[in-house]
Amino acid sequence: MDLILLGTGAPPPTPLKAGPSNAIVADGKLYLIDAARHAATQIVRAGFSVRDVDYLFFTHFHSDHYTGFAEFFISRWIMGAKTPLRVYGPDPAPEIVKRMLHYYEYDIDLRANEGKPRTGCEIEVNVLSPGDTFEVNGIQISVERGTRHGNVPDILSFRFEAGGRNIVIASDGSPTEKLVPFAMGADILVMHPCLPEFIVEEYGGVEETAKIVAAHHASVEEIGRTATEAKVGKLVFSHVVPPLAPNDKVAEALARHFDGTIVPGEDLLRL
Ligand SMILES: [Zn+2]
Repeated sequence: MDLILLGTGAPPPTPLKAGPSNAIVADGKLYLIDAARHAATQIVRAGFSVRDVDYLFFTHFHSDHYTGFAEFFISRWIMGAKTPLRVYGPDPAPEIVKRMLHYYEYDIDLRANEGKPRTGCEIEVNVLSPGDTFEVNGIQISVERGTRHGNVPDILSFRFEAGGRNIVIASDGSPTEKLVPFAMGADILVMHPCLPEFIVEEYGGVEETAKIVAAHHASVEEIGRTATEAKVGKLVFSHVVPPLAPNDKVAEALARHFDGTIVPGEDLLRL
């Protein structure tokens, strides 16, 4: 089982980074985690077909984590998917799915009326709650409220276990007391650091936005402490706030709080 960082960016559009999506690859099949900007294109760049992606797991519903949902969904169907897409996520997953389907209803009707089977554009939604564990094609998946993320009531960290590897994606926000036990002994822990010293610079005059953004995210101290206490094999950072903070400076800041291996996230990095 491998992890691919499909996109390591954030809300501001930039040609340098796709939005924050990840993928788990097991037995040659790709499982999508969040469907951010360019998710469909990044899946293709990673060497997979969108048609064959049948599972999508959402960590939470801040827009930067699902700007690519609609495009991924419709491209998957157009490219030949014949089975429903299976979506897993916290509330309000059913409502987000319903509204997204409404957006494409007109197009779906046009194509279905020409004989394209509708099954490939159906979505089965599974609402997840902290503490849930389930299995998908031999992958053990657990979710927990591993982070606190501003006023988002529903956000989940994911742990994937298969083939003797454990990969934990913490998602946005500061660690809760649940994250260390949840991530304990993971081979890979993915977290999203915020470095306030770079924010004002990048967000220009939008200081209010910068303040809100900083208050919702994990500091390098919190991330370093979590990785140390959970004894993870590799700490991977991506979806940095701000998104264009230099990777070497982020790694340097994290290294002050974690002695283990730190991997700077880059789009399409496979681990
Ligand atoms: Zn968020």
